[in-house]
Amino acid sequence: MSAASGMQGPRIVIAGGGLAGLSLALALKQALTDGVDVTICDPVLTRDPNGDKRAYAIAAAARRMLEALGIWDKVADKAQPMLDMAVTDSRLQDPVRPTYLTFEGDVGAGEPFAHMVTSGDLTAALIEACRTAGVTLKAVGIKGFAVQSARTGVTTTEGETLSAALLVAADGARSRLREQAGIGWISWPYRQSGIVATIHHERDHEGRAVEHFLPSGPFAILPLKDEVLPDGSVKHRSSIVWSERSENVPALLGSHPEDLLAELEKRFGLQLGRIAFETKPQAYPLSFGVARSFVAERLALLGDAAHVIHPVAGQGLNLGLHDAAALAETVTDAMRLGMDPGGADVLDAYERARRADITAMGVMTDGLNRLFSNDILPVRLIRDLGLGLVDRMPGLKRFFIREAAGLRSNTAPRLLRGQAL
Ligand SMILES: Cc1cc2nc3c(=O)[nH]c(=O)nc-3n(C[C@H](O)[C@H](O)[C@H](O)COP(=O)(O)OP(=O)(O)OC[C@H]3O[C@@H](n4cnc5c(N)ncnc54)[C@H](O)[C@@H]3O)c2cc1C
Repeated sequence: MSAASGMQGPRIVIAGGGLAGLSLALALKQALTDGVDVTICDPVLTRDPNGDKRAYAIAAAARRMLEALGIWDKVADKAQPMLDMAVTDSRLQDPVRPTYLTFEGDVGAGEPFAHMVTSGDLTAALIEACRTAGVTLKAVGIKGFAVQSARTGVTTTEGETLSAALLVAADGARSRLREQAGIGWISWPYRQSGIVATIHHERDHEGRAVEHFLPSGPFAILPLKDEVLPDGSVKHRSSIVWSERSENVPALLGSHPEDLLAELEKRFGLQLGRIAFETKPQAYPLSFGVARSFVAERLALLGDAAHVIHPVAGQGLNLGLHDAAALAETVTDAMRLGMDPGGADVLDAYERARRADITAMGVMTDGLNRLFSNDILPVRLIRDLGLGLVDRMPGLKRFFIREAAGLRSNTAPRLLRGQAL
């Protein structure tokens, strides 16, 4: 491995200021010495993130990482713990949705397996912390790059060229940099779209998440923090992720608001009383995708640029945060030994650290969606028998909860174990 040389302090450029890119920038800047320049480029960096009400389930391991980075304190009072979870399997027209599986959600004393946090709250906290830590934030896009042995010349959309030891492509599922590096993308569409919205309802959700498996796709109700209104009354809220056959989505979203609400009620049920949309529903086409390699010469892929999975288990962003923890650790450990952060050994170590986890999660989410998004009677009987069996096995349930929380291995990167780099 070559030493980082010939530069006035090495520079790492991150293309993409989504939650994965921002987390990596902060982790690197906090861990590395002042001489290292960490630059993050994204044209939307100056946009006010607070308007983004999409909410994510942040698993316990990712929460520990945010805690180690000093971010969790900033969002904790806006985060809703998931205290338990119920899984049902039925057809849309069925009068009741029998619960086949329940989970009580702590992975440790007082530590829930996941929290719901809005993208806007997390992004705002990460941008502020990056600024305070001294990350260089540039509201520009990255147009391309050209590798010249010990560095890579990264060109911005403003025409500036940044010389970097390592370029990280955190530029989302349709990564232009992945394409420019010639990295193959294995993918298939799900022919489903994820309709996402915030709902308010009469009764308290009591921290319970619900996943209704329906033939057109999973329908998740995820608890959000109550909102206290100026008159002191409380608004109970949940986020929905409604997977629906893509061909039905334009008609659904184009329908009269009362008709759309009636369709929502058929899925949501009446257990939380009367419901209403708080935000306009938005649909995202769903697909699976994984890069053939997570690295190329002086380039590492991160987050959705490396992998896109079905939202059935709410794990896409969690995988991206795992990538950030693994890459930050690999790069930091190498640089502390005086090694080149963009060297082939460092990048190979990152690829090895992430390949198995990402493949396993991709296979699991793809399999779950295929197994449950159909109405074939023998398949339904077998899967419901399986759910019922799991429900009677506390040891297996604990195992699944730890998997969902991202706590499957004690060889996980230090940040995911809540330790500093
Ligand atoms: C319906 C749905 C529900 C989901 N729910 C969950 C959940 O509950 N939990 C969970 O863990 N995950 C969930 N996910 C997955 C999650 O949304 C994504 O995995 C995550 O947002 C990806 O983050 P990212 O930072 O990798 O990419 P992105 O958020 O896509 O960010 C990429 C950034 O790159 C920027 N960019 C693009 N091109 C360039 C360029 N050339 N130069 C510079 N910048 C560029 C863009 O402006 C953007 O800001 C869900 C996904 C869907 C579709």
